Amino acid sequence: MEAYNFCAGPAMIDPRALARVQADLANQPHLGASLLEISHRTPAYAEIHARVLKNLHTLFNVGDDTTLFLLQGGASGQFAMLPYNFLREGDTANYLVRGYWGEKAAQQASRIARIHMIEDPEEADPSARYLHITTNETIAGTRLPESLPLPDLPLCADMSSDILAVPRNYNRFDCFYAGAQKNLGTAGLAVVAFKKEFLSQARRNLPGAFCYLEHNKANGLYHTPNLFAILLLRHVTDLLLEDGLNTLYTRNARKAETLYKELDRTPFWRALAPIGERSLTNVTWRLPTVALEEEFLEKAEAAGLHALRGHRSAGGIRASLYNALPEAAVDALVAFMRDFERTRG
Ligand code: PMP
Repeated sequence: MEAYNFCAGPAMIDPRALARVQADLANQPHLGASLLEISHRTPAYAEIHARVLKNLHTLFNVGDDTTLFLLQGGASGQFAMLPYNFLREGDTANYLVRGYWGEKAAQQASRIARIHMIEDPEEADPSARYLHITTNETIAGTRLPESLPLPDLPLCADMSSDILAVPRNYNRFDCFYAGAQKNLGTAGLAVVAFKKEFLSQARRNLPGAFCYLEHNKANGLYHTPNLFAILLLRHVTDLLLEDGLNTLYTRNARKAETLYKELDRTPFWRALAPIGERSLTNVTWRLPTVALEEEFLEKAEAAGLHALRGHRSAGGIRASLYNALPEAAVDALVAFMRDFERTRG
């Protein structure tokens, strides 16, 4: 029986990338040491770091006006670093809150500075340093519509759950970041991008590990990076380039469409996201009763469909359909759902 992992993160990793990283570790080209056991100041590591950055630049389709960092501390680290680096005495920032993670980002920032929390971009304070958005709410299963008009302010985005999973103009953002453990590999690493012009306005002389300009001065190698996550990211991004983003985006759209079609087929399922805001990467729904949800989850596990339980704060069911999840997983899930609904509906 095939088993599929619908976990929201840490999430499924492309098995080809896992095989490649395994081969990396078995290989000890450096006087008996693997790539995990050598200094991050060696040419061998520098080559990998540079390659990952080049791959990401190509995948985001951003130019020389953009600087990318591979930082420790996940997306939560960025919840703190962004306001710490950009908000000076008396400054404020707008935080658009449409769900748990947007609220979390705002709460964290409010420990550092005065934050303007808003539900609608029209309420934005035009004198603020930036507007922070969350492109995809992982728990609710909603995405911020790209067509939503936003005020003319520096735009910063948490893209943790849909980075490089949906088509997007990355040039539109002054800063974007994502934890790697959903679409880009494994945890403990944040991919962080800045327009150079915006970055140049950050605060100086903060403690180094938390200072973007210090990272910049050290060419992104201020201190020891998360070698393993970056090694894996090298293979994940190589494969994204080999497969082609358009092919991937089409496949991701098809996966979501297949699942939403089943959710819309019968009122037995109740899709949670409003139609215009349905996430392509996290699909959430409820069944008529909690008891049925428990039975659904138990039988799904037995059928090899793993980690479908909704977030502990939300309940219900959640299927995460990130890049590495094959279409066959969604087909198997939908077949299981049809069967379940036929006997329990
Ligand atoms: N933002 C979003 C949208 C997320 O989904 C998550 C993790 N689920 C985070 C931030 C926090 O990420 P990390 O655990 O890497 O700090």
